[in-house]
Amino acid sequence: MMAPVQLVWFKRDLRVFDHAPLAQAARRGPVLPLYIAEPGLWAQPDAAGRHWAFVAESLAELHADLSALGQPLVVRLGEAASVLQDLLDRLPIAALWSHEETGNGWTYARDRAVADLLRARGLPWHELPQNGVVRRLPSRDRWSRTWERRMGATLEPPPVLVPLDTSLAGDGAVSIPSGRDLGLPEDPCPGRQPGGRQAAQGLLESFLAQRGERYHKEMSSPLTAFDACSRLSAHLAYGTLSMREAVQATRLRRAQVRDQVKTQASGRGTWAGALSAFEGRLHWHCHFMQKLESDPRIEWDNMQRACDGLRPLEPDPTLLDAWCAGQTGFPLVDACMRALAHTGWINFRMRAMLVSFSSYQLWQHWREPGLHLARRFTDYEPGIHWSQMQMQSGTTGINTLRIYNPVKQSRDQDPEGRFIRRWLPELAGVPDDHIHEPWRMSAVEQAASGCRIGGDYPAPVVDHEASAREARRRIGAVRRTPDARAQSREVFREHGSRRRGLGARAQAGDSTRGRIS
Ligand SMILES: Cc1cc2nc3c(=O)[nH]c(=O)nc-3n(C[C@H](O)[C@H](O)[C@H](O)COP(=O)(O)OP(=O)(O)OC[C@H]3O[C@@H](n4cnc5c(N)ncnc54)[C@H](O)[C@@H]3O)c2cc1C
Repeated sequence: MMAPVQLVWFKRDLRVFDHAPLAQAARRGPVLPLYIAEPGLWAQPDAAGRHWAFVAESLAELHADLSALGQPLVVRLGEAASVLQDLLDRLPIAALWSHEETGNGWTYARDRAVADLLRARGLPWHELPQNGVVRRLPSRDRWSRTWERRMGATLEPPPVLVPLDTSLAGDGAVSIPSGRDLGLPEDPCPGRQPGGRQAAQGLLESFLAQRGERYHKEMSSPLTAFDACSRLSAHLAYGTLSMREAVQATRLRRAQVRDQVKTQASGRGTWAGALSAFEGRLHWHCHFMQKLESDPRIEWDNMQRACDGLRPLEPDPTLLDAWCAGQTGFPLVDACMRALAHTGWINFRMRAMLVSFSSYQLWQHWREPGLHLARRFTDYEPGIHWSQMQMQSGTTGINTLRIYNPVKQSRDQDPEGRFIRRWLPELAGVPDDHIHEPWRMSAVEQAASGCRIGGDYPAPVVDHEASAREARRRIGAVRRTPDARAQSREVFREHGSRRRGLGARAQAGDSTRGRIS
């Protein structure tokens, strides 16, 4: 007779270290670790081949790590409810264990179907938190305290696992499906970061020991950000690294830096500021995810309902295609989009600028551009992504409007046009004077630079200054209405940060004028 089995379902938590469901399940008996490659999930419009490629690499390492602990990973292809039903029929399963997931609407519906299945079988599903996101949060007021408590908890070491005969699970050797098996279209991303726990640990170590020293000073320019930012986002999104271990490693490093400052006369250097800024971002990760956890409709609907109808839901195909392809005629916008297509990553400021350009200058609703970016970001994390899409589009009602001027950003963040020339080879011969606004070149200058505007490189698709002014006017008019103000207060009550210094007044919708920067 086989002993009762604890089934551990890996989702966006592809690690054995600091994995509470795995550790707790192992204390109760033999564990069957399971990953389900769900065609339904990968058929969603926010899914992409680059996400799966990262997951597949992470699964290969997870399989090796679990095998070393005594029990290899079982990977099954199919929809979760039917795979679980099949396992429940085959094995004496005592309980299902997993982390809570703040996913898209599809995973929310799937989890409800799984919960129904387990309830019908009279089996428990232990879902444990894996970061600072709180399920069924009654109020934001004490949220930060919960975050602190969770981040300070002891890290769970990997457990020793009792070997099980996994052939009983109907799937002996691990076989990780390909993107094609999941029906995913080709998604070449030659500069993508590799998945897996080892890559995550390498990035955390190199960031905290060397790369991060000028983080807060170099995070905004795409020239420096690829190296100066931690690049941990995809690992945090797919859980090859736990948020708690990232926070604790950062705090340890901050303590070392403080000790060094006490013993050296050389002052604080830049480490203290860099690490403080970095830890703040780790907090934001959960702060933004909490918004989607508390209100799943923000994946589709404006947080401030007064913004409904402001922009047409249907995108303008010409403008959207130009933006997606990096063919808007604005060099920094286009360079960022092409760099993103190639690498699967771009820094925060440039993400914000891309969205601002599509939402204000191109006046597109955020949903379709948001789907395009979700597919491009290897680190796609639905909770952060949709909250940020709305924040950068001015539809939350609680954030100061920030409309980026793509030419000013270009001059500030890439003064000599090095990043632009790298990603837009057609502008290689354009002189520095014109690299930020190549459409201002005369016909003679175009001929001399080998770049004909409207031929080799597009003319600007909009007048960026006039369209930004008009966008600000339209949004301002909506934001000033009594309905919009009442909604802002409601959004702030449910989602606003209670931390000092995060602009509570602006978050509460006091700022209707906004900035163009
Ligand atoms: C429109 C838009 C969409 C975004 N979509 C995503 C997404 O799908 N997934 C994602 O992880 N981040 C997203 N971000 C936030 C941010 O741009 C990325 O987290 C960051 O660029 C990732 O690089 P990094 O790991 O080097 O970050 P670092 O700067 O090194 O920060 C460390 C970690 O802190 C978190 N973090 C950093 N900045 C933010 C932020 N502004 N909001 C919330 N968490 C943050 C991330 O987990 C990040 O990995 C989005 C930002 C914008 C403007």
